[in-house]
Amino acid sequence: MRYIEPHAHMVSRTTDDYQSIAQAGCEALCEPAFWAGYDRGSVEGFKDYFRQLTQYEPARAAKFGIPHFTWLCINPKESDDVVFGREVLSIIPEFLDQPTVLGIGEIGLNKNTKNEHTILEEHIALAKERDLPILVHTPHLEDKLKGTRLIVDALKNAQVNPDRVVIDHVEEHTAAIALDAGFWAGMTLYPESKCTPGRAIDILETFGMERIWMNSACDWGISDPLAVIKCALEMKKRQHAGELVEKVIYENPRSFLRQSPNFTL
Ligand SMILES: [Zn+2]
Repeated sequence: MRYIEPHAHMVSRTTDDYQSIAQAGCEALCEPAFWAGYDRGSVEGFKDYFRQLTQYEPARAAKFGIPHFTWLCINPKESDDVVFGREVLSIIPEFLDQPTVLGIGEIGLNKNTKNEHTILEEHIALAKERDLPILVHTPHLEDKLKGTRLIVDALKNAQVNPDRVVIDHVEEHTAAIALDAGFWAGMTLYPESKCTPGRAIDILETFGMERIWMNSACDWGISDPLAVIKCALEMKKRQHAGELVEKVIYENPRSFLRQSPNFTL
């Protein structure tokens, strides 16, 4: 099977993981900017991280034949300080013309604070100004429902074209909020917490296979860089046709990501 990993934090993974992903059939991998396992102490820390995402990580992935793309932003977890958030926002434009940058992400909310919301709105404005797609992070656990609604409202208020936005980390209670408003939806697969492969397939069976993708996140917590392909095998076990599986793990992410001219396979 071939697949696209649309959301993976490879800066937290070893080269062994790249090898496994390549062997599993990954044809492209996208890495949104997020928390790096620690809070950065200065804007220079973000500059180094953006260089890592736009220069070093694509070179590391290339050794395994995997094209590596990225999304840039200051993540919601570190954007509760508006002054700091704006400082980081001010350096993002100097990286946006790099050949592997797809858009602005993963932006959103973490604890649904007013300050996070301010920085979210400023990221949306930047994406609109540069005509870039957006990848959205939605909060976890008890903050998810409210946070997803706040984010959708912010995107609607800014009159962003929903075709150009993917709302990630949807679960059973938030998938319809994203899809009914015309946005794309992403499901982040984790082995035990959040959306397990079994739950993700239930969501697909409930909401359909249009405008939806799956990703592994594979970050600093308990996570699995092969989650997408394992979920695809699980879909086959549930008797989903091969073409449908390929649509979810390859065609759908490709359709969305191709909206960025930098996404080429
Ligand atoms: Zn992420």
